[in-house]
Formats: sequence, structure tokens, C-alpha cells
Amino acid sequence: MGERIIVLGSNGQIGTELVTALRRSYGENNVIACDIRRPDYDIKNSGPFEFVNVLEKDTLNGLFQKYKPTQVYLLAALLSATGEQNPKLAWDLNMNGLLNILDLALIYKTAKVYWPSSIAVFGPGSPKVDTPQSCVMDPNTVYGISKLAGERWCEYYHQKFGLDVRSIRYPGLISWKAAPGGGTTDYAIHIFHEALKKGSYASFLSAETELPMMYMDDAIRGTIALMDAEASKISIRSSYNFAGVSFTPEVLAAEIRKYIPEFKLTYTENDPRQLIANSWPKSINDSFAAKDWGWKPAFDLAKMTEDMLQNLKNNK
Ligand code: NAD
Repeated sequence: MGERIIVLGSNGQIGTELVTALRRSYGENNVIACDIRRPDYDIKNSGPFEFVNVLEKDTLNGLFQKYKPTQVYLLAALLSATGEQNPKLAWDLNMNGLLNILDLALIYKTAKVYWPSSIAVFGPGSPKVDTPQSCVMDPNTVYGISKLAGERWCEYYHQKFGLDVRSIRYPGLISWKAAPGGGTTDYAIHIFHEALKKGSYASFLSAETELPMMYMDDAIRGTIALMDAEASKISIRSSYNFAGVSFTPEVLAAEIRKYIPEFKLTYTENDPRQLIANSWPKSINDSFAAKDWGWKPAFDLAKMTEDMLQNLKNNK
């Protein structure tokens, strides 16, 4: 039997590109996009779409019954900055959404489940540079707390019930197709749009704030590589460290100036996202992903900047 894949939270920054990639590999009708928002972009024209709220158990049950998925990707979540504005909703969506899916995957014998975690699982007590897979983890955002708890649940369902659940701790993801969903690293997307539109940008993170980032093409390729890997190769059932490239706003601006020499970067002060960024790692050690399923990023800062500017210009 072929794959039947459900993607929940399909209309966001990641889902928009993941659904397209999965439909290319598995066939348009075998990838069911689901969200509470109306789909834009290519999603509504290229395959099935269902309105589904991951907090509504009956609707979810009907979805699993209808499609009997072999794989489920759960992307619906409240992100770091948005989560701080509504901590209880973030906890409810990020936790109960996950538990609903883990339970249904057991009931309907879904072969594989994917759920993303984040570098937000690390906190002020974690090592900042080359942050290892396992270390002190003391997240101080509700988003980070929910992701760390979610990782523990994933490992628990694997150990206790044998569920094949796989996960990656994404860094800040940079892409041009869909708008970012309210994270701390969103500046690294806005900066490209504003550079092209206005020739200037006011960053909400300070000049020297270094954070782990990744270009979306790499993130999608890595996610599918993890899901395609032999189960025996997956040694981590909480969530894998996953690294692309680390940079500061200043370094990114210098790279953008290679294409837009007059680009001017200024900084705003006292943005709440700065405090979140200060608690996160600067760079990530992803040696387990490299060893277990051959992960290697393809986009460095130069290649990412060139591709972002080119695509944003072409798609104006
Ligand atoms: P996003 O906010 O862009 O998209 C999330 C989608 O989920 C939206 O389309 C939203 O409408 C949908 N959604 C919200 N509530 C829902 C509900 N109750 N039921 C069904 N759908 C619902 O987020 P994203 O950037 O695509 O992130 C996807 C996942 O990846 C999240 O778990 C996020 O924590 C994780 N992640 C993202 C990044 C990043 O840089 N984008 C980094 C680390 C981790």
C-alpha cells in the first residue's frame, strides 16, 4: 500500500512548503492538508484540504477514520513570541494538540508521526555555543516549556507503546513563500522584504544577537530525510538537534549589502523578543542527526541570502 499523509497546520510557514514537497514525492491526492485557516498559495489547488482544529477530538477522529493515514505531520502550534502573549492558549494548543494526535496514531495504527520541537527547549542554563543534544534545559518561555514537555511525551509514547514518532528541534527558519508565524527569529525574514522594498530595516533584535537559523529548503529536506530513515537508525526519540547556520543581524546585513550596497540597518529597543533570544543558544551541535540519518545542511549564509533575494524579486 502507498503512503497516505495528513499534515495538520498545513497553511503556515513550514506546512506551505512541506505539503508541496510531500505531494511531489507521494502524489497530490495522498497528502491531505488540514488547517483552521483558509488555504492560500498552491495548497488548495494541488490536492485535498480539510478544515480541522487539532483541539477538536471528534473532528480529528473523523479525519483519521476517513483517511487512515500512514504518516501524520503535526505542525499546528503557537510560536515563541505569540505564545508569550497568550500563554494558556499556547500550552493548550501545543500540548493537547500533540496528545490528541499521539493517541489517535495509536488507535489507528499510524505508521509514523512527525512533530517539530525547537531550539526554544534550551534556556539560560544551557551552554550557548555548540549546544549539545543533552544538557541543562531550563526554557523560560511557555513555548519552550511546551516543546520540552512535548519531547518527553514523544519519547514516552515510543518507549511505552512503540509508536514511531520522530522529531527535530528546528532553529529559526528562513523562507520567502509564506509569512513567518510569530517567532523570535522572524527578523531574519522581515529584513529581506524591507531591504528590497525600502532599503532599510529596524531590527527588533540587537546587532550582536547570534542565533541558530536554517534556510527552509534545508529544513524540508532534513525533515523528509528523518521520516524516510530506517526506524533502527533513529537513536533519539525525544527530538534531534538540527543545525544550519548561525549569524547576528549585523552579519546578515553585511551579506545583504553585497546585493543592496545602500541597505541601512537600525535597531529598536526593549522588544520582548530580545529577552527570549538572550535565553537561546547561539549555535547547535547536531552530530546525532549527522551520524544517525546523514544530515548535512546545503545552504550557508551566502547561498541563503542570494536565494532569498532572488526569489523575493521574482515573486513580487
Ligand atoms: P505557523 O504559525 O506559520 O503555522 C502554524 C499553522 O497552524 C497555521 O497555519 C495555523 O493556522 C495552524 N493552526 C493553528 N491552530 C490550529 C489548530 N487549533 N488546528 C489546526 N491548525 C491550527 O508555524 P510554522 O512556522 O509553520 O511552524 C510549524 C511547527 O514548527 C510548529 O510546531 C513550530 O513550533 C515549529 N517550529 C517552527 C520554527 C520556525 O522558524 N518557523 C522554528 C522552530 C519550530
